[in-house]
Amino acid sequence: MYSSALSLIYDALGSWCAKALDPLFDSAGILGGWWRQHGLQWETGMSETEPDLAAIVRDIAADMLARKDRGTVATYIPELANVDPQHFGLAIVDVEGNVHAGGDCAVPFSIQSISKVFTLTLALGRVGDRLWRHVGREPSGNRFNSIVQLEHELGVPRNPFINAGAIAVTDVILSGRQPRETLGEILRFLQFLADDPTIFIDQDVAASEKRTGFRNAALANYMKSFGVIENPVDYTLGVYFHHCAIAMSCEQLARAGLFLSFNGVNPLTGFSVISAERARRINALMLTCGHYDGSGEFAYRVGLPGKSGVGGGILAIAPGKASIAVWSPGLDEAGNSHLGRIALEELARHTGWSIFGP
Ligand code: GLN
Repeated sequence: MYSSALSLIYDALGSWCAKALDPLFDSAGILGGWWRQHGLQWETGMSETEPDLAAIVRDIAADMLARKDRGTVATYIPELANVDPQHFGLAIVDVEGNVHAGGDCAVPFSIQSISKVFTLTLALGRVGDRLWRHVGREPSGNRFNSIVQLEHELGVPRNPFINAGAIAVTDVILSGRQPRETLGEILRFLQFLADDPTIFIDQDVAASEKRTGFRNAALANYMKSFGVIENPVDYTLGVYFHHCAIAMSCEQLARAGLFLSFNGVNPLTGFSVISAERARRINALMLTCGHYDGSGEFAYRVGLPGKSGVGGGILAIAPGKASIAVWSPGLDEAGNSHLGRIALEELARHTGWSIFGP
């Protein structure tokens, strides 16, 4: 009863507001013109015309390079601790292949967990919906390397983007193959998507993670005890550490993500990578799980499907518009790029590209 009374009041207020504002929108009125020109921009941060991407990227890169508060570089993988937090790169690739890029957009960095988007794509291509026997599709609400949930959920990880889930996905791709073949397949997939054979695995980062990856080993062994992991744990972890150690620049990464922005088809080559339905679903998982326990905040502030990595990169998908990669090595408490998120928030504000509207 209260709610229907409230909605009547809102309706009444709504039509009053519309009437009161009518003259402002009158096309003959001076204020009407002013409002359309300035009011809309103030309200939404975008103009009615196509966004000026070159200017937007230039301004964001300059702003981010100058910022003092840059988050904290990951140190639990010793090799990543050596990366200069001063780096910032941004690249946007649109449907025609136009690249708008700024800062250190051509410098390769460790893509880390962003690789999980591509292993998920491969695994779904390999086994289809049978993948969901090994991994769930719900946000975890925990850190990316958390172990607590696994016990309650009988070794089946919450989603493909937390470490346990990504290790389970890697194991699925590995089944029936040798680790070296599997790794070659993942690397070639990325080279193919980005149309760039120079993309490589940083062996120092892989070795560094292998040396110190005790927690991932714990997760994998624990899953193995439930039969969720099929292959020898060392093999699965070996492939996992190496695909996390793939190095790519923002430009390469944005290119590789294009198929997710355009219904599973790379618009530059016309090659269909996956079905439109699958692309939509991967985007849904990126939106809900791609930033671990920071996924809600990322959706709230940026409003785009995105996947982060502890190397400080983020791949963001603006469906129907563009693929975007950003890199700033300093992380926030949830393990996501601090300035990367702020840069994408600015980008979404100025382009109106959020999937939830401008
Ligand atoms: N290779 C890293 C790990 O397993 C990936 C984590 C991340 O990027 N969030 O810990």
